[in-house]
Amino acid sequence: MILPKAAKLTPDQLQEVTAIVTEFGCRIHPIVGALRTIYAILGDERDELMINRLEGLPYIERIDRIQSPFKLMDSRSDLATHRIRIGGVTLGEELLVIAGHCTIDPKHPEYFYETAHAVKEAGARVLRGGVWKPRTNPYAFQGDDKSLDILMEASRRTGLPVDTEVMDECQLKLAIDAGVHMLQVGARNALNYSLLRQIGAAVAGRATIVLLKRSLHMGTLNEFISAAEYIANFGNPNIILCPRGTAPALDGYRNHPDESIVPLLREHTWAPVVVDPSHAVGKASYVPAAALAAIAYGADGLCLEAHVQPSKGIGDDPKQAVTPDVLAAIIHRARAIWDLNHAETGGR
Ligand code: PEP
Ligand code: MN
Repeated sequence: MILPKAAKLTPDQLQEVTAIVTEFGCRIHPIVGALRTIYAILGDERDELMINRLEGLPYIERIDRIQSPFKLMDSRSDLATHRIRIGGVTLGEELLVIAGHCTIDPKHPEYFYETAHAVKEAGARVLRGGVWKPRTNPYAFQGDDKSLDILMEASRRTGLPVDTEVMDECQLKLAIDAGVHMLQVGARNALNYSLLRQIGAAVAGRATIVLLKRSLHMGTLNEFISAAEYIANFGNPNIILCPRGTAPALDGYRNHPDESIVPLLREHTWAPVVVDPSHAVGKASYVPAAALAAIAYGADGLCLEAHVQPSKGIGDDPKQAVTPDVLAAIIHRARAIWDLNHAETGGR
């Protein structure tokens, strides 16, 4: 829909606008109002270049899009009935909790094995463990291929499916070959379109699930859902959106907690939303409140950093990881909120 700055377009302007849309296989239909005439674009109005050229005209106020730019991830797409299932949980039908270490310590695999059993006992259905880590400090521990074996061994010991972050094509191949069930796209890479495409191509035709974090710098919903669309476009729609806090941080928290985005995502996409409160608040003592708020906002699940002995952990674990007893309490209370939400609204 084209809204001109003046009450209506002059004949010359209308001719210019018509010439542009015709190039893209569309037509113009004026809608005459009492005070103002607006112009509907008939045809597929999603072409970015057409919109940019119209928006660049000095006499155009704005273009309102009627069609969603997300052909696959839109809540009105044919995929809206698609359900994602992992760890015995169908997203949207039961609360999904992903929990485990921020970072697997390859020198101390015993902690990860203990944590794996403990998070299962606490009610987690997917085990997380960072094999390769995006670290701000180049001298900090960057992860280790050996941790992939530890991750898969923990999966075999507990029967839990596993989630780990991949940051490049080489890690992606190693993780897929090892049989990792859920691939995490981290906040730093959620805007890395070539990695999103590589992941989309690698998971196409597989049951692998992608947990797509929200970038620290993603302002609009459009940017977040479009990142998912990049992956889905290759054929595997098993994508879970994961808000994890944005910049600038709220004083005292690691990031700006963004669980309030859940109802907006619900409106615009069918994709399930699993909130990561650990990276949002950045401190174990704040995690329970943030986790429960996320469920109150309608999240389908939680991704939490947990460790049997946080002080012995590496990466974010010493400050951020909750202990298994705290995890169990969060899950217990989150289920109660989940049940209330779903009893009254069906969760939507
Ligand atoms: C993580 O999950 O440990 C992590 C690094 O997450 P994010 O990409 O959200 O910072
Ligand atoms: Mn972490």
